[in-house]
Amino acid sequence: MTTMSHVKKTMNCSHFINGAYVQSEKNQTFENMNPATEEKLGDVALGQKEDVDRAVQSAKAASSGKWKVMTLKERSNTIRKIGDLILERKDELAMLETLDTGKPLWLSKKVDIDRAANNFYFFADYMTSMGTEAYQQDDVAIHYAIRKPVGVVGLINPWNLPLFLMTWKLAPALAAGNTVVMKPSEITPMTATVLVDICQQAGIPDGVVNLVHGLGETGAALSSHPDVDAIAFTGETVTGTAIMKAAAPTLKKLSFELGGKNPNIIFADADLDDVIDTTIRSSFINQGEVCLCGSRIYVEEDLYERFIERFVERTKTLKVGDPFNEDTYVGALVSKEHYEKVLRYLDIAKKEGGQFETGGTIANEHKKGYYVNPTIITGLDKDARCVREEIFGPVVTVIPFKTEEEVLKQVNDSHYGLSASLWTTNIKRATRVSAQIEAGIVWINTWFLRDLRTPFGGMKHSGIGREGGVHSFDFYTELTNVTLKL
Ligand code: NAD
Repeated sequence: MTTMSHVKKTMNCSHFINGAYVQSEKNQTFENMNPATEEKLGDVALGQKEDVDRAVQSAKAASSGKWKVMTLKERSNTIRKIGDLILERKDELAMLETLDTGKPLWLSKKVDIDRAANNFYFFADYMTSMGTEAYQQDDVAIHYAIRKPVGVVGLINPWNLPLFLMTWKLAPALAAGNTVVMKPSEITPMTATVLVDICQQAGIPDGVVNLVHGLGETGAALSSHPDVDAIAFTGETVTGTAIMKAAAPTLKKLSFELGGKNPNIIFADADLDDVIDTTIRSSFINQGEVCLCGSRIYVEEDLYERFIERFVERTKTLKVGDPFNEDTYVGALVSKEHYEKVLRYLDIAKKEGGQFETGGTIANEHKKGYYVNPTIITGLDKDARCVREEIFGPVVTVIPFKTEEEVLKQVNDSHYGLSASLWTTNIKRATRVSAQIEAGIVWINTWFLRDLRTPFGGMKHSGIGREGGVHSFDFYTELTNVTLKL
């Protein structure tokens, strides 16, 4: 079995500009740390304004080159090839993702890497089967719309699903014919550094895909750059507002996938076995570091005691620890800073009168690394900070409810509106309640069941715009309407 002690992989991460790995102009770097061991993984190039500018100029020049004249079929085949090469290097990519994030290796393989490849397969197919709008106006005219790439697109991403989320933007951006500058999270720079090599091997022309590593300022330089036409961003709500301000003077197109505090609503008539299996996942998979995690759970009063008993019992069986152990369910939190944030929320919950049904503790046997036991908190008021604020760790709150009206009021009393899960066998109630939930995505009797054609994104402070299928194309293209007089 692979265990942490056998894994020694380290890697330095450079920028990738105009088809070549390069250092920062000022030669500055920062350290990348392994959150499971607190050991150094390598040095990362620290991108600054001049590096962002080099990458943007490279992307701008490439937008009128070979990439522009490729046929649809050639471009689609190249994008598909990226998916193939990701799967060929699956073991390497999964290991790097686990080293960088602290998530279990089995999860990196099953979710992050497989889904990353699938993003390219999906958009390679989708781009060849899309039509465009056309209207015949009696015998006067035919109007038809043509899609053009937006131009140079900045892709700014977080650390929780690094390769998967980057490819979720990169694949449609390329399918639509854009050139890009990617800015991965400073906390998880490794898989993006391999991805650019894969793109080159697949035949993406030089300059079409560029990569600049760095901190928030690097993302800010990209967001304010006058030659960047659009920014696709996934991350915290507060960062979204900073990007919006930075992008305003140059009127960029913006797509925002932001934070969430997603409700998981369980009615007493739900199938409890199914509820427990899925709620374990929706609460604790990826250490609870998924924007879609159902971190505030509402349970109908009649079911509450039975639910808590079964949920706590199952949660106690989850193995916390070495991400390279096959039976680990909860690995390390991604960084010291994030770990301390989660611990602060556990303190807040105590002060607010929360009762810890399980967890609330550091996994103490790990002398190094950022491990927190999966935590279930009850007894909190609906206005408690842990019920309202995004913790983004293995921590959930559970609150009982009496009526549909009462639970809907609490569910919608939030700045966030990303996703929700709803559990009931009453189909009328399911459709009635789901229509009233203020969220971009509602799952009935399931969680995180995705079809890449469907609109993905949040409302309120959880995002602006939608990704997926035609929605991605709407963002990554401009439409020109042509009118042909008959
Ligand atoms: P973050 O906002 O701190 O960082 C995201 C990226 O933005 C990083 O690359 C960072 O360097 C960059 N950045 C930071 N400041 C910037 C600035 N001023 N201008 C431009 N770029 C800047 O987010 P995070 O902590 O990496 O990720 C966690 C957050 O992401 C959570 O809130 C989570 O809910 C959210 N998220 C949302 C979705 C979704 O689909 N809605 C998916 C995954 C994660």
